[in-house]
Amino acid sequence: MKRVLVTGGAGFIGSHLCTRLVNEGNDVICLDNFFTGAKRNVMHLIGNPRFELVRHDVINPFHAEVDEIYNLACPASPVHYQYNAIKTIKTSVMGAINMLGLAKRVNAKILQASTSEVYGDPIVHPQKESYWGNVNPIGIRSCYDEGKRCAESLFMDYHRQNGVRIKIIRIFNTYGPNMHPNDGRVVSNFIVQALNNRDITLYGDGSQTRSFQYVDDLVEGMARLMATDDSVIGPVNVGNPNEFTIKELAEKVVKITGSSSKFVYRDLPSDDPKQRQPDISYAKKILDWKPVVELNEGLKLTVDYFRNLD
Ligand code: NAD
Ligand code: UDP
Repeated sequence: MKRVLVTGGAGFIGSHLCTRLVNEGNDVICLDNFFTGAKRNVMHLIGNPRFELVRHDVINPFHAEVDEIYNLACPASPVHYQYNAIKTIKTSVMGAINMLGLAKRVNAKILQASTSEVYGDPIVHPQKESYWGNVNPIGIRSCYDEGKRCAESLFMDYHRQNGVRIKIIRIFNTYGPNMHPNDGRVVSNFIVQALNNRDITLYGDGSQTRSFQYVDDLVEGMARLMATDDSVIGPVNVGNPNEFTIKELAEKVVKITGSSSKFVYRDLPSDDPKQRQPDISYAKKILDWKPVVELNEGLKLTVDYFRNLD
């Protein structure tokens, strides 16, 4: 049994991670300020003696005796991270400093939930960990992209300077149950629109691509990375390399839901990456991991979740 801290634990990914860690017999502290997360995501864990839910903002220091820290606290949807851009940077940067300070003090292993956004609008395709990216440092996505890049720098510096045991995972677009219905990300938007027979909003001409990973595959990759020995620090890409255009995604959602929704086209937000696909050879080698849930299957599970949501 380990004592594990999950920041952002009441969010979409964090709630799946907390559930898995509790089910494996660990003592879990879930820390969240509920900006985009919700108590309902972890309701099934409340009352379990192995689970504690703490309302806390990671821009402030936090003290606890723990063996492992998963640092997920940060809004992930463009709509939410742009809502208060300064707060987003503070969350990434000060949150990383506070959690790295804690890891240093209690000698915990710490895993940073980084992102494919560190590659920006990539000119190398697919993206390997060795690619340094193409990020606009002054654009509307930079509060998230640069915040996450700075967090990666901080992780590396705490490792080099203080010997902190770090792991950096670069997560590619992930979807599944517990996404917020108003999250603004493409999978939840399309499913909610389709289930309500409302217009499906394609930004631009829908030809931009993404590679969608089901949340269970990601959580498996995260747990495997945390379990590696101290010599493995990453960064490691974890995502599903099957790449689809946004229009193809919309067509799949309409088919699965049997919706009568029509497609409408909206302006493409600035700096919206044109393509994204992970090269996962490093994760395969180091973690013996690959995604197993196909998009159609994962979408059906996610549609069922949204159908049953009150
Ligand atoms: P989410 O918005 O559902 O979860 C983020 C959680 O962090 C929420 O519960 C939110 O309330 C909490 N939070 C935000 N700011 C906080 C703060 N200052 N203090 C404490 N808690 C705070 O998003 P998610 O998709 O579950 O993302 C989780 C992590 O994974 C994020 O760090 C995100 O950048 C990263 N990530 C996600 C994806 C994806 O496709 N879902 C891709 C790349 C990286
Ligand atoms: N997108 C879209 N319609 C929506 C929401 C998003 O066409 O209602 C597009 C968006 O412009 C982007 C892609 O879908 O090209 C993925 O967007 P998301 O916000 O999910 O993630 P990210 O851009 O951060 O990968």
